[in-house]
Amino acid sequence: MSPDRALSPRARALVARRPVFDAHVDSLQRQLDLEHDLGVRTEGHLDLVRGEQGGLGSMVFVNWVDPKYIAAELGGAKLRTRNLLREFHRLLAAHPERLAFAGNGRQLREARAAGKLAGIPGIEGGHSLEESLDELVWFFERGVRVLTLVWNNHLSWIRSCQSGAGPEAPEGLSEFGRDVVRTMNELGMLIDLSHAGEKSFYDALETSAKPVIASHSGCKVLHGHQRNLTDEQLRALKRNGGVCGIVFCVPFLSAVGQQEDQRLRDSEGFKRLAGRNPTELFLRQGEYLQEKAEPLPIWVVVEHIEHVVEVAGIEHVGIGSDFDGILRTPQGLEDASCYGNLVEALFARGFDESEVLAICGGNMERVFDAVTGPGTRAHGAELLAYD
Ligand SMILES: [Zn+2]
Repeated sequence: MSPDRALSPRARALVARRPVFDAHVDSLQRQLDLEHDLGVRTEGHLDLVRGEQGGLGSMVFVNWVDPKYIAAELGGAKLRTRNLLREFHRLLAAHPERLAFAGNGRQLREARAAGKLAGIPGIEGGHSLEESLDELVWFFERGVRVLTLVWNNHLSWIRSCQSGAGPEAPEGLSEFGRDVVRTMNELGMLIDLSHAGEKSFYDALETSAKPVIASHSGCKVLHGHQRNLTDEQLRALKRNGGVCGIVFCVPFLSAVGQQEDQRLRDSEGFKRLAGRNPTELFLRQGEYLQEKAEPLPIWVVVEHIEHVVEVAGIEHVGIGSDFDGILRTPQGLEDASCYGNLVEALFARGFDESEVLAICGGNMERVFDAVTGPGTRAHGAELLAYD
C-alpha cells in the first residue's frame, strides 16, 4: 500500500513531521542473518527508507534471541545478543546521515532536530543477561536503553505470561529480578513489561522508581490473549506514569484474526515453506499469511488504542508495532511506510492533532526522557564503540 496516496492533507502534514516513536521493532535479525542493509529499501516490514516515508522519528531496535541459544552453548544467548547489537552499530556507521544513536532524551531530540531517525537499542528477554548484572552494564555501555525483562521463556528470576512454568520459576520477580529493575533505574534504562506474567508485572511496578512501558501488547478485554494487559494492569500503568504500546500483531489483536492465522498455519502450503535459516523462513511465512489471510481491518488497532485511552487516559498509550517480529499485520499497516494510515484512522475517530501526536510518539518520548534524565548514567553517557 502506498504510504500517502490516500491520506488527507491533515494526515500527510502530520506524517511529514515524522512524529512516530515505535517502541518495538525486530528488524536487526534480517541484517544479521540475511545480510539486509536496513539503511536501504529491503524486504520485510521495516527499513530506514520506509520508516522516513511513513513518519517514523524514533524506534527501539530490539535484540531478540531465541532461547534455544541458551542451551546451544555456555553464554550462547549473550553472544547472539552481542552479535545483534553489533548490527545496530554497523547500521549507525553505514548511514550516519539517516540514523543517530539516542541514548537519552536530549540525544533523541537532537537526532530529530537534525532530520535523522533516532535509534535506541533494546533487548527482548532477560535471558540475554545470562543472570549477570555486569552483562546488563556491558550492554548499557554499548547503547542498550530498553530491556524487556522476560520473553515467553520463564527465567530463574522472573515468570513470563505463558503457562507451564515449572517450580524453578518464581511466582513473579525474585530478589535478583528486583536488583535488575533497580540497576536499570540507576543506569537510565527503560523497563519493558510486555511478555511478563501478571505478578512479575506488578512486582516490577512496585520496585521501579521510574515509569515503565509495555512496549508491544494489546488489551485483554478486547481479546483474551495471554500477551495482552488487563484493565487493572492498564490502571497500574497509569498510576506509574507509564505507557502501553499497542502491537500490530494480528493474533494478539483479535480472536478472529488469531483463528484465521491458525487455519493457514495448519495448511499444507504453509508447512511447505522453507528458508536457508529461521529468519528467512519467518519472512516467507509472514508473506504467505499476509497474502492468503482474510485481512484484519486497521480499526482493530484503533479500538485497542481507544480502550487504553478510556481506561488509563490519553497519556498512557503508544505504538510498538513489533515489525519484523510478527508474521501478519492488519490491513493498511503492512510495513513502516504505513503509519500514516493509522494517523488517518485516529483523526477519523475524532482524536485531535495533539492527541494523535501523543499516541504516535509523544507519550513514549516522555517516558524515555524521564527514565534517561538527570541523575542517571544515561544522562551523560557516551556510546562505547563496539569491538
Ligand atoms: Zn515480543
